[in-house]
Amino acid sequence: MIKTERILHLKSCRGRKVRVVREHYLRERVPCYSSLCQAGCENDGKVLPGDLTHYVIPDAGVSGDYLEILEFRELQGIIFTQTSCQGVQHSKGRRQYKRLRNLLKDPRHDCVPFANEFQEYSYCPREKGESQEKWQTRCVYSAAVWYYNHLAGMMDVVMITEDQEAVAQYSSLNSGVYVISVQDYLRNFCPELQVAHDLYSSISQALQEKESEGTEREYTEHLPGELLEAGIKSGRYIQGTLNVSKHRAHSEASIMTDGLSNKNTDLSWGVLVCGGKNRNRAVHGDQVVVELLPKSEWRGKDNTLAEGQGEEKSGEESGSKPMPTGRVMGILQRNWRDYVVTFPPREGPPPQTRNTQRILAVPWDHRIPKIRISTQQADALQDHRVVVRIDSWESTSLYPNGHSVRVLGKAGELETEIQTILIENCIHVPPFSDAQLKEMPVNSAEKPWRMDPAQVAERRDLRESHLVFSIDPKGCEDVDDTLSVRSLAGGKLLELGVHIADVTHFVTEGSLTDLEARSRATTYYLADRRYDMLPSVLSADLCSLLGGVDRYAMSVMWELDAETLVVNKVWFGRSLIRSSYQLHYELAQALLDGEQAEVPELAGLGSEEKDSKLAQLTQALEMLTHVARHLRAQRDRGGALELEGVEVRAQLDKDKNITALVPRQPLEVHETVAECMIHANHWVARKIQETFPHQALLRRHPPPRQEFFSQLVESATAGGFTIDTSTNKALADSLDQAVDPQDPMVNRLLRIMATTAMSQAVYFSTGLQSLDQFYHYGLALDRYTHFTSPIRRYADIVVHRLLTAAITMDRGVDPGKALASNKELEETAHHINNKNRAAQQAQKISTELFQCLYFKERDPQSDQSCVADAVIYSIRDNGILVFISEYGVKGPVYLRNREGQVVAVGPEGSCEWQSGSVRRYSDHISTTSSCGTSTFRLFDHISVRISVRSTNCHADTLTLEVTSNRPLLSAGPQQPRSQGRSQLVQEVKRLAEEAAQEKAARKPKVSKEEREFSQSKTPNLYSLLEEIRELALLDLEGGAQVCETTA
Ligand SMILES: [Zn+2]
Repeated sequence: MIKTERILHLKSCRGRKVRVVREHYLRERVPCYSSLCQAGCENDGKVLPGDLTHYVIPDAGVSGDYLEILEFRELQGIIFTQTSCQGVQHSKGRRQYKRLRNLLKDPRHDCVPFANEFQEYSYCPREKGESQEKWQTRCVYSAAVWYYNHLAGMMDVVMITEDQEAVAQYSSLNSGVYVISVQDYLRNFCPELQVAHDLYSSISQALQEKESEGTEREYTEHLPGELLEAGIKSGRYIQGTLNVSKHRAHSEASIMTDGLSNKNTDLSWGVLVCGGKNRNRAVHGDQVVVELLPKSEWRGKDNTLAEGQGEEKSGEESGSKPMPTGRVMGILQRNWRDYVVTFPPREGPPPQTRNTQRILAVPWDHRIPKIRISTQQADALQDHRVVVRIDSWESTSLYPNGHSVRVLGKAGELETEIQTILIENCIHVPPFSDAQLKEMPVNSAEKPWRMDPAQVAERRDLRESHLVFSIDPKGCEDVDDTLSVRSLAGGKLLELGVHIADVTHFVTEGSLTDLEARSRATTYYLADRRYDMLPSVLSADLCSLLGGVDRYAMSVMWELDAETLVVNKVWFGRSLIRSSYQLHYELAQALLDGEQAEVPELAGLGSEEKDSKLAQLTQALEMLTHVARHLRAQRDRGGALELEGVEVRAQLDKDKNITALVPRQPLEVHETVAECMIHANHWVARKIQETFPHQALLRRHPPPRQEFFSQLVESATAGGFTIDTSTNKALADSLDQAVDPQDPMVNRLLRIMATTAMSQAVYFSTGLQSLDQFYHYGLALDRYTHFTSPIRRYADIVVHRLLTAAITMDRGVDPGKALASNKELEETAHHINNKNRAAQQAQKISTELFQCLYFKERDPQSDQSCVADAVIYSIRDNGILVFISEYGVKGPVYLRNREGQVVAVGPEGSCEWQSGSVRRYSDHISTTSSCGTSTFRLFDHISVRISVRSTNCHADTLTLEVTSNRPLLSAGPQQPRSQGRSQLVQEVKRLAEEAAQEKAARKPKVSKEEREFSQSKTPNLYSLLEEIRELALLDLEGGAQVCETTA
């Protein structure tokens, strides 16, 4: 090892220049991470393959400015030198540096680091008078030469730099080491990768623009980090996340204080930030620091109805009384993501030249400010949706500057809109890569999958001893749970078993499949398609516990006292099962009810054998029901809630196409299966929490904030009911009582409101919360987790691993691999929680998209399907909020319009706009005009006309107008209310397909994006509904979305 000195010129936080001398150690051996290495480097972890045409080494400038291009997985064999990495850290900041480090860690990206400044033969000290940039470029070049020599000339090396002088200076110095610009590199080595070329030109334009920025100040400067920190400590400033109002994006934002600060209870509703100057360049989602304004300048939130309103928690309607108001002093962390924007329509004739133009692109998300983009394609891209990234927002610039990343397609087309939804929710679901699929077991006709004898020897074999069966919806393909129940000890004991697909046997921790599943965190269900978390060979085949085949399972088995149903013993472990019956709910219920039913598995048997097997199965189902009733009653006593769930079921034909949606018969067997799963989840939660008190992944459901119940309580009172929200038990009981025998909608609406008021259930690491915080409010259980759906939830995979480690430790064996620490687990939990929210949001918006596409095809004036029956569930200053059960739509209905006219009700209930006035009361709202006074009461049924409001730049929205203050009689309750929605999705899909065919006729090739994004296009409304059903039954989290997406 050689010791040298290295002189660094650093700037202190206060801007003073400091000269630092550091000892610098050089080594002969620094890993090269290449599979071609003959020198015996210690290459642990990721290595570059040897079968590439070259390795590529970006210099510091390229690594900083063009990292997004280097992120394309198509670019292989990238070496990031230490010099480049440090360059990124210094010039681009923490965020970009973190991004680079993640890239290096991610095994799905073919890139490695190289500690060139520690390598004796590649290090070059900085020369006197040499600029930082020139020195960095020289270092990187020297590293490139080192690689070429180290790999004995077996691999050419290409250095990329935007420094033209370096290109001239170095390109002919060494054969085998090439120095070219980014653009030349892309032209020569990735001519096909159009997205990269487009991205290159948009980034380089943005960089040029940046040089020609103005100097006039539009905003106050942000304070430096240390002053912000000090201010937060002293209590002068408040830290939080900026949350821009969806409906008043320009004027209103608030700071949610993350529950941190709060001696000051005034701040429990957050801090209001009014107007752009006070927001001071903070973007929705940023971590900001605010200072409170003097009390005299405090303002209240606007309380009138705005477009698309109606889904906020009722507590947000905190009236317009003044609340703490502040201004942004600085930003702790930007939370910028990819944004979808639309280029505005041009005014005036197009320019003659193809010069770069600066345009203000309008983000799809209302809460994001317009973004200034430099582009040569402004005309070609009119009416298109484009993905952009924000680069910077200087105080001299009214808008943030950004660059475009790629084009999604024409606004309004189904595929463009679906991709928009995915990107806006940060959902990234590329097709599974070949490398990932190579990890998967094979199961084909030629090479059928077989159980491993070693596994057979190790596992508890239940194939002969236990009658295992599954109960799922009709036509279910991915069966992840099965059940067994039998009587022991001459009827004194009962044994209940829940057997779950053993996904972690196939998905090794840290494998590519595992990493991909982790980053997805869940299977995504949109209105017309689904994106799986795991490849289908697992989700629909080897991990699906189908009837009649051998499968690995993770089992939980309880031994209960047959009399008292008290648990004597519980066994957790890996098992082998062969499910005997794949039942569906209706069939299981029919057997329970003693009805004549045909069990397909018994079809070929003689009548005696058939009868005996049928009796055995029926007895098992009865035992199961008996146990589940007991478990449910136990939880009910504890205060478990039943909220508004899905009440529709998809009817499928033999090709699994949806033929209809019919109201779900609430079968007891649904509850039975759900109860067994809840029981398993609960016991697994206990097991892993007891074994790993500080690092187990559990799921908690915090009690709701009482304020959020205000709307529920007020509405109920207006309807003559009393709702007690003091505990979950009181709430559950009072909701059961609040029934209007004349109108079942009333109870349903109250349950919807209760669901909306709920907090979200979240995953967490047990080390981070005190024991009393573990409680699951909705299920009334002290501990809960997710164990029963590892095929479509990553949390369950984590839990399976924890359970496996716990079982291993019970046997006195060290589990081997170190478990995730509390901190790591909390990160995982946080990630999964975010992805779940994104999944819910995407599902909800995709449903709204379909609603809009459906009504867009219709003339609201003449088409009868545009008029629907609606129930009033909330009263506002200038209108009402209604729920249309036929289409599952919630939204505002204005009773006073912008021109000041009001809805006047004429004879027969028909409505028209007239001049007049509106008056709001707690349980009703009245309009007065020359026609007289008309009143709209809470829970009244009225008729509304549905039309679509198109804005091009944003998602379309539905507009509701009252046509009559009387119920729409044709839509009686006898009509299956989901019929409309079923037709709706079917019809929109048909139209989109027709349009696509028409387009295909003109343009034979499907765009890359279309291929990329239509990963699984089978009609999956069915799975969507099933997923929602499960969420609704098992957990509260799905509840809120349930009432928004289905009816
Ligand atoms: Zn080596």
